[in-house]
Amino acid sequence: MTVKKVLLAKPRGFCAGVERAIEVVNLALELFEGPIYVRKEIVHNKHVIDHFEAKGVIFVEELDQVPGGATVIFSAHGVSPAVRREAAAKNLKVVDATCPLVTKVHLEAVRFAREARSIILIGHQGHEEVEGTMGEAPDHVQLVGTEQEAEAVQVPDPDRVAVITQTTLGVDDAQRIIDVLKRRFPKLVTPPSHDICYATQNRQTAVQRLAERAQLVLVLGSDNSSNSRRLREVAEDAGARAYLIDDASQIDPAWLDGVECVAVTAGASAPEYLVEEVIDHFRALGASDVEELEVIRERVTFVAPPELARAMAERETGR
Ligand code: SF4
Repeated sequence: MTVKKVLLAKPRGFCAGVERAIEVVNLALELFEGPIYVRKEIVHNKHVIDHFEAKGVIFVEELDQVPGGATVIFSAHGVSPAVRREAAAKNLKVVDATCPLVTKVHLEAVRFAREARSIILIGHQGHEEVEGTMGEAPDHVQLVGTEQEAEAVQVPDPDRVAVITQTTLGVDDAQRIIDVLKRRFPKLVTPPSHDICYATQNRQTAVQRLAERAQLVLVLGSDNSSNSRRLREVAEDAGARAYLIDDASQIDPAWLDGVECVAVTAGASAPEYLVEEVIDHFRALGASDVEELEVIRERVTFVAPPELARAMAERETGR
């Protein structure tokens, strides 16, 4: 059997936070004298990083690799206040590409800490977003990644506990952990709206629907992209075989044995041209039917950070 049909998930690929972060780097390249430094990967995608490196952008792990006075961009995943202080001490010109939905979680951490609550952050150890959020209230936040950890976590006052989450978790996984916390801490305070962002939720809903119709699901995204990894897991939980790939060159012909319909989606940091290359790959193998399944319509956009808006206005007025 050969692949006859390709089903495309919609929404897939770039979210509003990633679009904005990429636009920030493009504008910084235009508006400011180089070199432009970016702390951490601007978004977690190998192709995006390679593209900007080719344009001269320098990616660093920490600010001690950036010379004093230089321009540095903070990635979409956000930074802790300690990093902001370090940037100020080095007199760096900062452009902040933190996604506004990550900032929302930071502000919740600050508010819950002011209310003298213990904060349980559901997230993945070592992820940049988690490090940034924890840094907002290091004495209040404890990280929990599994139901077992939620069963074991200890707090000084079980009546004063709040929960926040990383923005890119599996919706069902996070809910199971929250359920454990609610049972253990009946007065648990949750944020007014979900911390898992709209893009993560929508891409998971879409891939779940597709996975019910395809034998194989391919998720475009890099291995360090949390939301892309969750898409692969959601597809697998829905009953399909699923693989995370950086691009079409990683498709293993052995995966296609017995597969008539393959579904394709992309994580929030994966560019659309990678999806097009996968479609071309299957067309070349004889697939003639390509169908896009729109599960949810998205209309979210974010404005540029104020420091860039100011620089653009100055350029326009010639100052
Ligand atoms: S995945 Fe969500 S939180 Fe992350 S950049 Fe995109 S919109 Fe923002």
